[in-house]
Amino acid sequence: MRRSLRAAIAVLTLTGAGTVATGAPGHAALPGWGRPTITTAAPQPGGPGLGDTYFPDYGNGGYDVAHYDVRLRYDPDTDRLSGTTTILARATQDLSRFNLDFLLDVDSVRVNGWAATTTTEGVHELVVTPSRTITKGQDLTIVVRYAGVPSETLVGGYTGWTRTDDGAMAVNEPESAWWWFPSNDHPLDKATYDISVSVPTGVEVISNGVQPRPPLAEAGNRTRWSWRTTSPTATYLAFLAIGQYDIVTDTAPNGQPVVNAYSATLGELGPAARASVERTAEIVEWGAGLFGPYPFEAQGGVAGPVDGIGFALETQTRPVYGPGFWRRGANTSVVVHELAHQWFGDSVSLARWQDIWLNEGFASYAEWLWSEEQGEGTAQELFDFAYASYPEDSGFWQVRPGDPGPSSIFDAAVYDRGAMALHQLRLAVGDDAFFAILPAWTAEHRYGNGTIAQFQALAERISGLDLDDVFTTWLFTAGRPDVPGSAARKAAPPVEPTSWAKIREAHRLLVR
Ligand SMILES: [Zn+2]
Repeated sequence: MRRSLRAAIAVLTLTGAGTVATGAPGHAALPGWGRPTITTAAPQPGGPGLGDTYFPDYGNGGYDVAHYDVRLRYDPDTDRLSGTTTILARATQDLSRFNLDFLLDVDSVRVNGWAATTTTEGVHELVVTPSRTITKGQDLTIVVRYAGVPSETLVGGYTGWTRTDDGAMAVNEPESAWWWFPSNDHPLDKATYDISVSVPTGVEVISNGVQPRPPLAEAGNRTRWSWRTTSPTATYLAFLAIGQYDIVTDTAPNGQPVVNAYSATLGELGPAARASVERTAEIVEWGAGLFGPYPFEAQGGVAGPVDGIGFALETQTRPVYGPGFWRRGANTSVVVHELAHQWFGDSVSLARWQDIWLNEGFASYAEWLWSEEQGEGTAQELFDFAYASYPEDSGFWQVRPGDPGPSSIFDAAVYDRGAMALHQLRLAVGDDAFFAILPAWTAEHRYGNGTIAQFQALAERISGLDLDDVFTTWLFTAGRPDVPGSAARKAAPPVEPTSWAKIREAHRLLVR
């Protein structure tokens, strides 16, 4: 998680397309009942965003995507990416035109077989005007042919596409898809994916889900790799890792396929990477015991190259890890963090980026629970140490995890204070209620979206308590909250739990 253009985008969108979105996918207004409705209004353009409070132009209005078929050709020598993405969608309003979020050069767009015209607007808006009007409820097949050099396609000086010595990585949050496939780029619009990439033979391509067929030889000494994910997936959770990888396959205790991949460039970091990522199936089984059934069809992890990303991301079914996590030996904290996101962030996604605590607070608290399970420090000991380790006058306490601001969604406070907030909730409701709330949340919002307000309502329903104080104090109020025994803690700082060094190391690379 991390890395962005947020600052650049904030400036650039001031001059970008203006209107704010109406109608998130699946939230169309109900028709009036009792008498027939006669619609005379002319079809309207789909909105250029979904009204996200932090990123108003992310995603688009007027349609809901069901599936992306991303069929690409990539050449590591030149970083040239070309291909066709076929989008299966349904119109949620009568449309005169609609937007896709995309940056590469478009050769052509067809909508239900008919050629459409395109223009670009704002930072990342591709405006598609079909030759025939689209009516609400209509099925759409949108075929976009394109090509470009993603590493040279910059927004505010930045690209979310990482070119490496032996290939490339499309791994970034919250912006990633813009550089490799056209999309409705917001977690409110999830879809399934078929992703296939042709590369020179000898290069590996890793992506989400399972391989519906083995790599297939193509003319010109090339090989096409195919991946498929059948669970609803947010756009930023689709990924590509292209390069020299050692792929390790296995079957998890629950019968699912496990696909792990290790960059050949890892060298002496390789054993620590394997000692961490090879525990994936074990950690998934542990998580299922606490958070509810594992939501997806496959498991795994990708240990990226030494010149790739510097962070890690919870890409769906298969997180990707930068090399920095292995520099001081194995680190299961980061693996626990990214796998916990499969429940918190991936299956249950935020509905607006402001609610990032629902992702990062929970994934961070999972690290505390894992520490407790491993006998390396209880969650209470970690709370005490984390609480004491940020001085009262630290800027850390000025960031509110429930509304950190668009440039601070990956601030340390969202992670560490976010975990503290969950621990305070646990203390307030007791273990029985707390460990009932977590799987209830993942069950009720499985494959969908949720808000902090909905989580609070669920916690209050299960515990029977008014929890406004806990949420307001820990998520929405600046300053270090008092806790029982605050004075004593200040006088005698707690002993550092064994797991803290690994947790801090993981978070050092995750937060910004
Ligand atoms: Zn995270």
